[in-house]
Amino acid sequence: MSIPLKNNIIYGPVNSKRLGRSLGINILSTTEKICSFNCIYCQYGITKNSSGSFVSPEEVEEALSNFFANPIRIDYLTFSGNGEPTLHPEFDKIVKKVKNIRDKYAPSIPIALLSNSSNINNLSFKTLEMVDIKIFKLDCGSEELFLKINRPIINISLKEIIKGLKRASQKFPITIQTIFISFGEENNYEKKALKEYLLKIKEIKPAFIQIYSADRPVAQNNVNLISDEKLKELEKVIYKKSKSLTRAYLNVPCEIRFSKGK
Ligand code: SF4
Repeated sequence: MSIPLKNNIIYGPVNSKRLGRSLGINILSTTEKICSFNCIYCQYGITKNSSGSFVSPEEVEEALSNFFANPIRIDYLTFSGNGEPTLHPEFDKIVKKVKNIRDKYAPSIPIALLSNSSNINNLSFKTLEMVDIKIFKLDCGSEELFLKINRPIINISLKEIIKGLKRASQKFPITIQTIFISFGEENNYEKKALKEYLLKIKEIKPAFIQIYSADRPVAQNNVNLISDEKLKELEKVIYKKSKSLTRAYLNVPCEIRFSKGK
């Protein structure tokens, strides 16, 4: 079971704990999901393509200009939508256009990017600098769990992603977004899995971490949410100096996004 795709370029605003009233910008397709991952918890169902009929930079420009012709209150402009925004072959051009429109109509509104990190090594730092809040996905610290949870449909390893995230984090503050789940007999938040994850976070040195559990519905039936209590414990491990099983104390500011309805 899955939720419907965004059928427009501009959608929302969506209420987000971190981003407030966030106006979504879907630069992928309005009819299909285009992603490099096939995460077991994806609300849009199974990924079939990592490429397809992307909307054009001019269509994005027009849609956003139309929004600002009759604006409503928003706190952020966020690249997100039906998959992985950075897969758009004209991502750089679109970011520039969105920044120009933002600068013209709403210079105080920050631009955010929600990315699954798979394309991090191909992104231009010049383009990323135009994005005020850079949020990248990291759900685990081992290749094995990466293949089980994110199930990439392109040729990419977690090692390459970590390398790219480290490089980006040395250049500017980045946020890491992590979803903690259990699936079958496994999970990505206990013992070895947690330790491996924390060690990777320690390497990347993000400015901020956002953790949450899956919202229903998800792509695969055996994926389970973790409790809010467990999320609070994980927050302590990441941020406060919890006497946890790992010595990889991070003290990175961390925020929980509780599951829907909380
Ligand atoms: S990266 Fe996002 S859109 Fe892509 S499969 Fe995972 S959850 Fe779905």
